Amino acid sequence: MTALPRKDAYRCGTAALVGRPNVGKSTLLNALIGWRLSIVSPKPQTTRHRILGVLTDATSQILFLDTPGLHKTGGRAINRQLNKAARQTIAEADVVVQVAEAGRWTAEDEAVYETSTGREGKPHLLALSKIDAKKDKKILLPFIAELDKSHRFDGILLVSAHKKDGLDELLAAIRKLLPENPPAFAADEITDRSERFLAAELIREQVMRQLAQELPYSTTVEIEDFREGDQRAEIDAVIWVEREGQKAIVIGEGGLMLKAIGTAARVAMKRLFERRVHLRLWVKVRENWSDDEGALRRFGYAD
Ligand code: GDP
Repeated sequence: MTALPRKDAYRCGTAALVGRPNVGKSTLLNALIGWRLSIVSPKPQTTRHRILGVLTDATSQILFLDTPGLHKTGGRAINRQLNKAARQTIAEADVVVQVAEAGRWTAEDEAVYETSTGREGKPHLLALSKIDAKKDKKILLPFIAELDKSHRFDGILLVSAHKKDGLDELLAAIRKLLPENPPAFAADEITDRSERFLAAELIREQVMRQLAQELPYSTTVEIEDFREGDQRAEIDAVIWVEREGQKAIVIGEGGLMLKAIGTAARVAMKRLFERRVHLRLWVKVRENWSDDEGALRRFGYAD
């Protein structure tokens, strides 16, 4: 039996954010760790990789695991891979923080609950998100009471990532459930991901942002080369798409779209890496990569 943490002991452990796509997990993680690391976009399923954000204070260190949305089983190879990744993350976590929209509990939310709960009585918090969008907060009371009655949550909290409401309360609830451990990371470390990985994420974020409605699933970014040049990082990257038509969209008229993506990604990298960046971008076609196990492995989605 593990001993209960002493009241004044340092606590350190992992918290997995789970929830169906679009409930606001990435936005919440960014608001919590105060540094924009994971990808936020108005479209579902833009976070495909697990990203670790570290939040350190005098009494605790929370290691956030950002999981891809759990999907219905079946479907494309990429969905199966994402499900597997999400389950692995949940299995590793000390605390599960399920995010759901305040006032809206769907069959998919219930499925996420079923998948992520009941593992050796793992602590499970529910964060009800986007409360700024609810004008009359009183109508949430019966909703919360019903969820509390029919589920086993260790706490239900109301949050708004946009308005930064309820974030301290959520962090305090997570801290209370962490095991007694010394810190795993130095205080100034915010992620265990390589700059190479982050560079690819920043490019993909810009592809998602600039191409609003188009190509949500069919692009991925591969860093071909990342080397230290004369006082700057030299990065060669490929944006992979599935069809020639998509390639034309990403490049844009007269190459303007690709230029805008590259410029914005470079600015973001410069800020994050704290040095100058020279970025060269290509767009290439690999048909049907998102349903091709070999391609998924190459692009880092598989084990
Ligand atoms: P994820 O798929 O669960 O990671 O969801 P995202 O973080 O990408 O957010 C999905 C959408 O919900 C985006 O359009 C966000 O702007 C929106 N959203 C996230 N947090 C809030 C919030 O606190 N308030 C409101 N009104 N919208 C939010």
